[in-house]
Amino acid sequence: MSVRKIVTYPADILEIECKPVKIFDKKLTKILNDMYDTMIEFDGVGLAAPQIGLDQQVAIVDIDDEHGTIEMINPEILETSGEQIGPEGCLSFPGLYGEVNRPYYVKIKAQDRKGKFYIFEAEDFLARAILHEIDHLHGILFTSKVSRYLEESEMEGEEIE
Ligand SMILES: [Zn+2]
Repeated sequence: MSVRKIVTYPADILEIECKPVKIFDKKLTKILNDMYDTMIEFDGVGLAAPQIGLDQQVAIVDIDDEHGTIEMINPEILETSGEQIGPEGCLSFPGLYGEVNRPYYVKIKAQDRKGKFYIFEAEDFLARAILHEIDHLHGILFTSKVSRYLEESEMEGEEIE
């Protein structure tokens, strides 16, 4: 188990375009495993590589549902539809929460830890988590999409990291 340090805002690494992963090796496996340990340790539902200081297109999402941990390497958004407004937070912004408008549905194409391509569809909270993490890989932070900031007392359910 290897918990990495979370990079908090402000930091240049959080606002850059991450590089596509080309080599699917043991080093990548280690990064993914460490990201998982770090996400669990800090009670997040997702984590992107720049949040542990790496400029690579690697992100994970786990909202504790039947899908388990979704590992997204070089993810691309193929399609979105609908709309949802809900609260979000981010491990890189401790204690900050805001309402963010996102598509209700998303279809992505990504690679797994072995480099195999897959297509994945998600709705609702899972779609929100996936979109939040993919944004991180392009240097886009949730604060740029917040329509209204929330007090911690206004937070009811889960938050996105
Ligand atoms: Zn985040």
